Amino acid sequence: MKFLSFIKQNQPYLGLLVDGDGVFNLSAYLTQHDGHGLQFIPTNVSQLIALGEIALTNIQKTLLDIDMSEQELTHLDNVEVLPPLDITKNVFCVGRNYREHIIEGNIANGRPANSFPEAIEFFSKPSTAVIGHKGHVNRHANLTNSLDYEVELAIVIGRRGTNISRENALDHVFGYTIVNDITARDLQKRHGQWLKGKSLDTTCPMGPVVTHRSAIENPNDLNVSLTVNGELRQSENTSSMIFSIETIIEQLSAGLTLEPGDVIATGTPKGVGFAMTPPRCLEVGDVVSAQVQGIGTLTNEITA
Ligand code: MG
Repeated sequence: MKFLSFIKQNQPYLGLLVDGDGVFNLSAYLTQHDGHGLQFIPTNVSQLIALGEIALTNIQKTLLDIDMSEQELTHLDNVEVLPPLDITKNVFCVGRNYREHIIEGNIANGRPANSFPEAIEFFSKPSTAVIGHKGHVNRHANLTNSLDYEVELAIVIGRRGTNISRENALDHVFGYTIVNDITARDLQKRHGQWLKGKSLDTTCPMGPVVTHRSAIENPNDLNVSLTVNGELRQSENTSSMIFSIETIIEQLSAGLTLEPGDVIATGTPKGVGFAMTPPRCLEVGDVVSAQVQGIGTLTNEITA
């Protein structure tokens, strides 16, 4: 099941994406059916996660009985898609996690090509940077000459936990979404720590949906790709990640509490703009589409 947060006629709703482009208004359906005993009617994916797993199971059972061909669906293009999570507490990120991307970055930065991280490199992006599908990414031309893209599979945490073992890691996952970890490469280098270069406003496109974990057989085997103006720049499979989903959750949660609604972007494959010869970073008017198998396509335009 693919859940999304959207606005229609100025009202926020929780939706279900049906057959790729049909939006079923789940909030309205639950309201019409007396809420199915829920504490409240969720109007976005964060609220759905907050209701807990029993409520979700009840909603899923209800949905199985609905014949979607008889329901009123709105085309995805006719709603305003919001970032799926409106109360994201943390957007954690994994740095270099794909071997070929690390090699291209090492070469571009004049380091030995085969120098790999021994431990996971974690950083975060602020929630103020988050925008949704079709939201505009500010070029920030007064601050950076090298705005770059990074398609990433992102984990959405569903159950609170600290010191989560890799064996139990997937039990803490609500689902998966897409993050485009837009990065100002010059700021990333200049400030030493990655925070500034990764955190400018609008540089965390997220969505368009959160696919529930039950619909993703193996998150460590998903095709990940990105195009700029239709030109394929990145294309790899999450099986190429050095650190798996389970390892990332185990190591990040060691002594650090993960909460429902937290997002963990898992790193990007090779093909980023700054490592191309010559570098090809993002400019105003570029349209970037990030795709992850089983989730969909997250599209954003760069604007002034
Ligand atoms: Mg990244």
